[in-house]
Amino acid sequence: MRELDIKGIGMTSQRTRNRLVKTIEQLGVKDKKVLRVMRLIPRHLFMDEALASRSYENTALPIGHGQTISQPYIVARMTELLLEAQPCLEKVLEVGTGSAYQAAVLGGLVRHLDTVERIFPLYAQARTLLYDLGYRNVQVHYADGTWGWAKGAPYDAIIVTAAPANIPTALIEQLKIGGRMVIPVGQPQRTQRLQLVTRISEHSHTIKNYESVVFVPFLKSKQ
Ligand code: SAH
Repeated sequence: MRELDIKGIGMTSQRTRNRLVKTIEQLGVKDKKVLRVMRLIPRHLFMDEALASRSYENTALPIGHGQTISQPYIVARMTELLLEAQPCLEKVLEVGTGSAYQAAVLGGLVRHLDTVERIFPLYAQARTLLYDLGYRNVQVHYADGTWGWAKGAPYDAIIVTAAPANIPTALIEQLKIGGRMVIPVGQPQRTQRLQLVTRISEHSHTIKNYESVVFVPFLKSKQ
């Protein structure tokens, strides 16, 4: 088991975490529950020790395999958008587990989270870490999120943390009627647009545009 020095580092980094959450608040995030959860989660445990000293900066950082842990402000913003219509979400899907930081934030706010990751070592690491941290309502799956996670569908909400050029149809189909999805959409190497998709009936959905963001590309699994 990986040694989790939550007490030791946690004690000294609470102040830095509070400072990070203050920055997020100043950038416009208002949801108190989201801010509270982010004040508690030790982000340094979700990245390589070599980068731990930078873990409470409001920036995305590399986690290996060409992937990144998302910028804390974006994690907060996307979570807030997801919870806006329905503060107590029962079932949520995340596509792109990565470091599992976003999954931990959601794990503290929703009843059940399925999260899928297509890179095996990231999947395995996330699974162990979330287990060691005591998250029993988060299930990590090794899968290509292009197809969502059919076994768990339908979902109240879906969050996608990598950017596809177009919204994958399967994800819309796995939303409950009235359910919402937050997803960055756009061409790789460019800035993408954060979109909020609401499924309003069996065959229709609405799309609302939010700020521009920069995410790693959404990739299909290698066969
Ligand atoms: N939520 C993560 C963000 C990680 S970066 C965090 O908090 O750290 C995005 C992740 O999405 C990467 O780990 C990448 O491997 C994964 N990803 C990209 N395309 C995917 C796909 N089609 N299915 C599942 N995961 C995917």
